[in-house]
Amino acid sequence: MPPFDTFFNPDEIAALTAPDFSPEQNLALLATKFAGSIVFSTSFGLEDQAITHLLHAAQLPVSVFTLDTGRLFPETYKVWSRTLEKYGMNIDVYAPDTTALESLLHKKGPLSFYESVENRKECCEIRKLEPLTRALKGYKLWITGIRAEQSPNRQHMEVLEWDERLGLFKFHPLFYWSQEKLVDFISQHNIPYNSLHDKGFVSIGCSPCTRAVREGEDFRAGRWWWEDNSGKECGLHQPSDNNNKNVNTVAAL
Ligand code: SF4
Repeated sequence: MPPFDTFFNPDEIAALTAPDFSPEQNLALLATKFAGSIVFSTSFGLEDQAITHLLHAAQLPVSVFTLDTGRLFPETYKVWSRTLEKYGMNIDVYAPDTTALESLLHKKGPLSFYESVENRKECCEIRKLEPLTRALKGYKLWITGIRAEQSPNRQHMEVLEWDERLGLFKFHPLFYWSQEKLVDFISQHNIPYNSLHDKGFVSIGCSPCTRAVREGEDFRAGRWWWEDNSGKECGLHQPSDNNNKNVNTVAAL
């Protein structure tokens, strides 16, 4: 059972989970409550850029990190650089373990992820999961850019959850935002964004594993498009027992 009562009083839970909650106020509440143990992961997608803007605007003491898998798009590196220029904030970087990556490339070559789901998960484990586990070590609360509207899976998630595997809380400050609201926010505040979003890319991950999404397709359809939907997990957000709900979520990064 997640230790919600240990960490939050009823008023805080009500404020954090209300559908009309203010992301600014709740991020400030959590930054104070989890001072020194709160972290935000960014992959420089629209949601992450909006959260980065909010954190910077309020000068909240929240650590920020990204995962550099080594296979990101040039456009992602560009928006990463523009974000550093605009906000001047520290973004920690976690890269794959060199020995594990060299071994994988030596044994299976650079495109093994196309050959089987097992191979793809192996690559995600080395390039994403292991660095993520290192990045989150010691933190008690993880802020992500997940929104309910992104997929049917995500509509069953909670805005504030306990991740049993990682042993920390996850909070999704834009959980109830629509795509329209998000795009308006980015535009109004002149926030730098990944130019691939203008070319039909929605969820942007590694270059060889991401394509643009066609009209009517699911938010995640452009990720590992050669697999059927049942295998589309990279493990960043594992299925968890969240108040006895089987929340089967997929990666935000
Ligand atoms: S998304 Fe593709 S390239 Fe990136 S870690 Fe996973 S399998 Fe490897």
